[in-house]
Amino acid sequence: MYLELWWFLTVPIFFVIGWVASRWDRKKNRRRKQTKFKDLEKLVLFLTEENHSDAIKLLQGIIKDYERSLYLQKSLGILFRRCGFFDRALEIHAALLSMRKVDSVFLDSILIDLTKDYICAGLYDKALQALELIESEKYCRQTLELRLKINQRLKQWEQALKTLENLENHSGEEYENLRIHFFCELIENGIIKYKEKLKKMNSDHKRVKEILSDKNKIALDSGDFICNFCAAKFDYFFWKCHLCETWDSCEKLSYDKH
Ligand SMILES: [Zn+2]
Repeated sequence: MYLELWWFLTVPIFFVIGWVASRWDRKKNRRRKQTKFKDLEKLVLFLTEENHSDAIKLLQGIIKDYERSLYLQKSLGILFRRCGFFDRALEIHAALLSMRKVDSVFLDSILIDLTKDYICAGLYDKALQALELIESEKYCRQTLELRLKINQRLKQWEQALKTLENLENHSGEEYENLRIHFFCELIENGIIKYKEKLKKMNSDHKRVKEILSDKNKIALDSGDFICNFCAAKFDYFFWKCHLCETWDSCEKLSYDKH
């Protein structure tokens, strides 16, 4: 009888212990959630400030709690690429490709990232191979734009014209300015037949006027020049910025003599 009474008395004690433990657990969870939310806030701030190196450090910490989050890993790869760590970006994006149970559209988005990583690393053959694997219609435009970028980097101007045509057919937009430059590049490389095509375009573009008059006035201009898109400075004239790859962004710097 004495024993039974003792057991009866332990019930409220266990109840109190359980209640305290659950409160403590809840408090701990709340604190963990608050920390995670603060990390997320910081991450957004770093990304807004384009502080990629701190964003990478923070994201690496966050990923430890969400190892299965494919989107976070994809983002980390993109940040590595933006910071110039192309090998790390390639490593992450290639690893994501081998993941199981990933839908095909997401896989195609990874292939787009992989292509960009390869382009940044100067591995154009690999970039083209990655583009070949993309099947989703959703990424058709991006695929064509990346292919056009590679064509231009490799100075494959005839191929670039074909890609440009495909891009125009797909997007319904015209890229006359690009076509002019591709024609001009081909003419400068000795393929004269494009001169006739250029004449038919009847453009007021200053490069067209220059190339049809057989004078290299603008290209031989000396002084300091700046890209009005990325602000890179060069001591020679350029039709396409070597840094941001924007056409017709060159402006001559004029200094105040006083
Ligand atoms: Zn530029």
